[in-house]
Amino acid sequence: APQGTRDPVATARDILKRVYGYSAFRGNQEDIITHVIQGGDALVLMPTGGGKSLCFQIPALARPGVAIVVSPLIALMRDQVDTLRQAGVRAAYLNSTLDWREALDVERACERGDLDLLYVAPERLVTPRFLELLERSRLSLFALDEAHCVSQWGHDFRPEYLQLSVLHERFPTVPRIALTATADAQTQADIVERLALGEARQFVSSFDRPNITYRVAPKDNERRQLLDFIRRHHAEDAGIVYCLSRARVEALADWLKEQGLDALPYHAGLDPAVRQANQDRFIKGEGVVVVATIAFGMGIDKPNVRFVVHMDAPKSLEAYYQETGRAGRDGLAANALMLYGLQDVVMLRQMMDASDSSAQHKRTERRKLDALLGFCETAHCRRQVLLTYFGEEHPGNCGNCDTCFEPVETWDGTVAAQKALSAVYRTGQKFGVGHLIDVLRGGATEKVVRFGHEQLKTFGCGADISKSDWQTVFRQLVALGHLTADPEGHGGLMLTDQAASVLKGQETVRLRRDRAVLSGDGRRGGG
Ligand code: ADP
Ligand code: ZN
Repeated sequence: APQGTRDPVATARDILKRVYGYSAFRGNQEDIITHVIQGGDALVLMPTGGGKSLCFQIPALARPGVAIVVSPLIALMRDQVDTLRQAGVRAAYLNSTLDWREALDVERACERGDLDLLYVAPERLVTPRFLELLERSRLSLFALDEAHCVSQWGHDFRPEYLQLSVLHERFPTVPRIALTATADAQTQADIVERLALGEARQFVSSFDRPNITYRVAPKDNERRQLLDFIRRHHAEDAGIVYCLSRARVEALADWLKEQGLDALPYHAGLDPAVRQANQDRFIKGEGVVVVATIAFGMGIDKPNVRFVVHMDAPKSLEAYYQETGRAGRDGLAANALMLYGLQDVVMLRQMMDASDSSAQHKRTERRKLDALLGFCETAHCRRQVLLTYFGEEHPGNCGNCDTCFEPVETWDGTVAAQKALSAVYRTGQKFGVGHLIDVLRGGATEKVVRFGHEQLKTFGCGADISKSDWQTVFRQLVALGHLTADPEGHGGLMLTDQAASVLKGQETVRLRRDRAVLSGDGRRGGG
């Protein structure tokens, strides 16, 4: 029963203890909760696992009437409602999984005032029938979960979320709390604008996840690298391995099974029953490894995921942060590993160049991709780079990322870069890395001879640098924006405008020395 709003702090603490059995609030939960109990609007930015649910559930219990919780995660509604009911809370949900009779019962309970919380999918919320139900009910607040779904810049855009502004128009006195774990400034601005939250107080939590160890390693032999990583650090643990394509998911899951791991595939092309079964086994099982496309994970609530591996680079740091954020929600140590190679960089650049979005959208995508590549290639603390991207200050030297464990060596790669760029130029800006390296190292392959490339001035000028070192040079030149993939997608590399200043000697290029690839063979390639 509602206890009024006379002492919101005491009320909030009392509910925290009585209903949830917790003794203290985390982070800024208490500020948020007391603000909403008193009828204020709020925009809450809090990382995954930070404890967003309590921020609307406790005000829902403290204020008279029913709280309407909008969530796109139909699969999770039932679990959340079950958990609340077990704690004695009068909660229900309305979505397409209920038959009409069950739905009618819920609607009746809502208008009678027999509910504290009602979870509803966004597409149902904006129907005339539901809005009329709301008119007949006493409302305590609206909670708009996963609020970033309103933004087209994000990766989870849901058109129905745009219509949620109707709530403010129809029910201007009912407080609203919007919540998201997506922190970038553009998404934030979108939420404020599209949900008319200009007057809402913003609560921004630190996005640091100190228990997650970040590692990015150049791809060498990706399957071996993955298996070694799992065997060495996570023999009995549950984890998620992300791949970009369904085919890669299937092949890798099969291979891991052959190696004796309890691995399961997950992607949108699987039969829904199989997908659900695999997800259930992951959530309930002990050491299950899910190999998945990014279709897996939104709303997966498994606190003891011990590791997340990216076998392909994600397309932005937001995506990376969200996906790695599924590890270690219980606060215990967890690992995030990204394997990343030239092909990833070329493909991401290509996908972006090929997309037919507007110029403005493309600029945004390019900025995001550059940030991701900058993170991959940085010689500084990864956590610092990540948090800085989200607008948060961090002193660096976190002591819990690969570059902090073992400082990255950098070298002056200017001359090597000039050689690589001129090889691209002299071969006509249409060849892929393999051929370019043959030219640089003086390999008179059939293809080299066919094109007369053994006649070029650059032929053999880079024989002192190994093939794998050249790979890392090219990868970094693409990442740094000096080279780009040809727009037709044949895998050829072309110079960008930026390359000119390197070729003219007006710009020095510092490159990182990849450990895994360059180990043990000295300082070649110094130029
Ligand atoms: P989010 O929605 O932000 O990802 P949740 O609301 O699911 O996070 O909370 C993550 C976990 O932390 C849940 O198991 C929740 O019960 C727990 N939790 C939240 N707040 C507290 C608290 N004040 N004290 C202890 N545990 C908490
Ligand atoms: Zn660090």
